[in-house]
Amino acid sequence: MKWTNKGHELDDLGEVYSQVENLYIWGVSELAKKCYEFLLYLNLADKFNIVFLDKSTKKQSELFCGKTVLPPQALLESARQNVKNKAIVLAFPNGQDEVRELLNRHGIVNVFSALQQHNRNDNFIQNFLCIWAMYKHGILISHWTSYCLTTRCNLNCKGCLNFTPYINNPWDETFDEFKQHIDIVFSKFDYLYSLHFTGGEPLLHKNLPRFLNYISENYRERVFEFFLITNGSIVPCLSVMEALKQAKCSVWLDDYSQNVSLCASNIELVKRAFGDADIPVTIIRVDSWYDFEIDATNNSSMSEEEIINHKDQCNRFLHDFYDGKIYGCCYHKFAQKAGIIAETDNDYIDIASSSKMEILEFRQGFTNKGYVDFCRRCRGFGNNTKSIPCAIQIPKYR
Ligand code: SF4
Repeated sequence: MKWTNKGHELDDLGEVYSQVENLYIWGVSELAKKCYEFLLYLNLADKFNIVFLDKSTKKQSELFCGKTVLPPQALLESARQNVKNKAIVLAFPNGQDEVRELLNRHGIVNVFSALQQHNRNDNFIQNFLCIWAMYKHGILISHWTSYCLTTRCNLNCKGCLNFTPYINNPWDETFDEFKQHIDIVFSKFDYLYSLHFTGGEPLLHKNLPRFLNYISENYRERVFEFFLITNGSIVPCLSVMEALKQAKCSVWLDDYSQNVSLCASNIELVKRAFGDADIPVTIIRVDSWYDFEIDATNNSSMSEEEIINHKDQCNRFLHDFYDGKIYGCCYHKFAQKAGIIAETDNDYIDIASSSKMEILEFRQGFTNKGYVDFCRRCRGFGNNTKSIPCAIQIPKYR
């Protein structure tokens, strides 16, 4: 999406969402609980009349988050009354399309999903709450905050979306750079729904405990969910464990053990080490990745309109925070860090010199060009996606 009315692109949506007073969270689940807990954390839960819905009579007979659970019929019977002041959050993993059709037939328009998936533009936090909070309360929230600490990695995977096989000279953020950049982030954002440290492999950064401690000592109360993403091949040292614990930073462990012998031999040790240190670990079993086919993709003949559409078909919210800026696509920035494309000065927003509203619009997908330069070399997440088996180890490309 290309900016044509910077600072006012979301005014219509902001007005629509500002009218919402009744929030129906459909599905008694961990997803539902997390949505509710985030509203409590923001001290904004009391701005809505929150109702939990579930088909299960057993769940209707029990309190959930201290509230009664009603059957969905309770919503449907009054659906057409005051449609504008209702928003529905679907907080169950399967069958959302059928429920959407049902709600649509009942005239309900503000329907969001609690699921986080690629190619969604209806996520409750990203696409409703971030806009509502800004228009109603002037609060800027970052939904998904990906912060890369290093391009160093101990694996070298075919189709790596950080383009590790192309990297000859790995880069590490220094502590002074980190401090400067993270201070800029918190000078504009009031809250981060999630902050995650990534790499490369962030456990290889020797300053990781200092980064964690800096968040812990200065900003942890403004971060709802803090986690570190690792490939599960490295058992962290004691100082990392202590800093993770102090920062209440959990671990997202991508399990590549089916394809990487190092991961297969270490994963149980790694899990046990985190478990012994009381650090929560979420294991993500990954079988395939998107294949951007960057060496075979040439979108240079696409018109401006076509390339904007190409980007819009991708997930527009996978940004990268780096150098006091937010890049319009994290893969564009990863490609720059890997030396695949040149540095550009028009594919990011500078946090310090931009208004909160401009940053919100950027996070909703608006940019000066409507795409990033790397879209011309990237297959993306749109209609023509391809996948590739994950974590197949290969030699360096250069
Ligand atoms: S096409 Fe590639 S570079 Fe462009 S937005 Fe999609 S993933 Fe990012």
